[in-house]
Amino acid sequence: MFEAPPPIKATKQMKKLMAKHFLDLDRAKKEGSPKVAWCTSVGPAELLLSMGFDVYYPENHGALLGATRMAADMIPYANAEGYSPDICSYLTSDVGAYIKGVTPLTRAYGIETIPKADLLAFNTNQCRDVQDWFGYYSRKWQAPMVGVRTHRQVGEVKDYYIEDIVGQFKDMIPTLEEVSGNKFDIDRLRETVRLSKECTVRWRKVLEAGAHRPAPMNFFDYTIHMAPAVVLRGKPEAIEYYDLLLEEIEVRKREGIASVPGERMRLYWEGMPVWGRLRMLSDIMNEMQAAIVASTYCNSWIFDAFDEREPFESMARAYTELFIVRDEDYKEKYITDWIEKFGIQGIIFHNAKTCPNNSNTCYAMPQRLAEKLGVTTVVIDGDLNDMRCFSDEQAKTNLEAFVEQIEERA
Ligand code: SF4
Repeated sequence: MFEAPPPIKATKQMKKLMAKHFLDLDRAKKEGSPKVAWCTSVGPAELLLSMGFDVYYPENHGALLGATRMAADMIPYANAEGYSPDICSYLTSDVGAYIKGVTPLTRAYGIETIPKADLLAFNTNQCRDVQDWFGYYSRKWQAPMVGVRTHRQVGEVKDYYIEDIVGQFKDMIPTLEEVSGNKFDIDRLRETVRLSKECTVRWRKVLEAGAHRPAPMNFFDYTIHMAPAVVLRGKPEAIEYYDLLLEEIEVRKREGIASVPGERMRLYWEGMPVWGRLRMLSDIMNEMQAAIVASTYCNSWIFDAFDEREPFESMARAYTELFIVRDEDYKEKYITDWIEKFGIQGIIFHNAKTCPNNSNTCYAMPQRLAEKLGVTTVVIDGDLNDMRCFSDEQAKTNLEAFVEQIEERA
């Protein structure tokens, strides 16, 4: 038996905020105002919010399907309509749940269905799957779909990439005006970008607190507390929430409260979370007193570039600078910086079967980083939502061997 980590008190407030977020969307849908826009998680949320849309993030719903372990039962419904089991399991579990007519929002908030979209806005910066995912609903509901098609495998972010993305954002505006019934207002966009920036500054501080020894929060905590940065950025309540959390983190740092009691090893998580096994993986790491103190996944909602003085350009830069959009050299340098800054001894790479976009295991990155940094690496095969691709036993055995290897090297 291991010592249970002390609970994070701010969680209560976060749960209230999330309930409000979903209940507001449900009300908007029922009353027909404000209009509801679906947005990809690193899509043009600021533009949509500034136009007066209530914004819904289907990937967040996908993660809920995974975390509540509903996903595996839903995926076959989407497969039966021709969506392959090999593509994004957020997509297949979300579409499957829609076909079946269920949602985890019912149990959590008493909400019957996901909010039907008046408009869908995607950004392919993360993958093409989001476009196909939104395309399903756009056809189903005859709802307009707009999108940004981003440059991929980006090394240096060139000015002409930014000009192109800015042009794509601006092209969306007439459709957004028509559907929302509101005129575009540059000052409202500036204010939304400012609020998103304030949120991201705080979220970065939350994540950087992981450099403290012992770490006051770890990867499994972050996968929960990232929710406001994902679905409430651009709104004052996200800023207030992270101020509250940062206060608690300061107390935890001062009092030496460890998120993994007895922390004796510091690790990095690369790739998607395994939503259906967060508790199990967290327990394994607690038992071994190994703290996962940083991850590329939770860092994905740090948008340093936001600047209200240049709202379009800075949004374009923020959504192009993301880790997932970048080339191998950039990614290796990025991980190296966090490994060095956080004093990390090992990297867990998650090879998510249905998300090659956010898995960096297949082109020898684990081997290159192990050699270059002198850290131990391990690859865990699994998936974000499709638990048929994940073996509890194998993951446990691999993680135990990985931790032993780190101990031997110490
Ligand atoms: S990045 Fe991966 S998990 Fe996210 S929507 Fe794309 S394929 Fe799915």
